[in-house]
Amino acid sequence: MPEKKNYDVIILGTGPAGLQAAIHAARKKVSVLVLGKETRSSVYHAHIGIQFDDEMKYIDTNKKMETNVPGVFAAGDICGPPWQMAKAVGEGCIAGMAAAAHAKKMRSSV
Ligand SMILES: Cc1cc2nc3c(=O)[nH]c(=O)nc-3n(C[C@H](O)[C@H](O)[C@H](O)COP(=O)(O)OP(=O)(O)OC[C@H]3O[C@@H](n4cnc5c(N)ncnc54)[C@H](O)[C@@H]3O)c2cc1C
Repeated sequence: MPEKKNYDVIILGTGPAGLQAAIHAARKKVSVLVLGKETRSSVYHAHIGIQFDDEMKYIDTNKKMETNVPGVFAAGDICGPPWQMAKAVGEGCIAGMAAAAHAKKMRSSV
């Protein structure tokens, strides 16, 4: 039987945004799992009710890269143009740190 392990933060996507988020979350001393898989982004919306824009193309986030679902953050191309590496990396950094802060808050409230 495989050993069970709990993670504080799970990141979907191994592009520049996802990897940057993972690095910055891990620096905040939380455990991070990064999953990479080629699927359509609509999966997120269908399964956990993440808010997309009116055209259902991009995920809506605030300045902390938080979505409407508590504890779920988004970054990079999925949040809209400009589709550039620097933007994806910058947003990934913000999302990773915000996710780590959220995870620590959740941990301390248990
Ligand atoms: C041909 C081309 C040339 C480009 N040239 C430049 C350039 O010169 N300069 C520049 O700045 N930008 C360039 N870009 C844009 C740049 O590549 C993107 O802005 C950047 O890769 C976005 O990073 P990201 O992490 O948001 O998304 P992505 O790089 O698209 O990474 C997202 C990852 O998430 C994975 N994924 C999707 N759904 C799921 C799921 N459900 N579960 C798990 N994983 C999932 C995907 O497989 C993918 O690996 C170019 C893009 C293209 C296509």
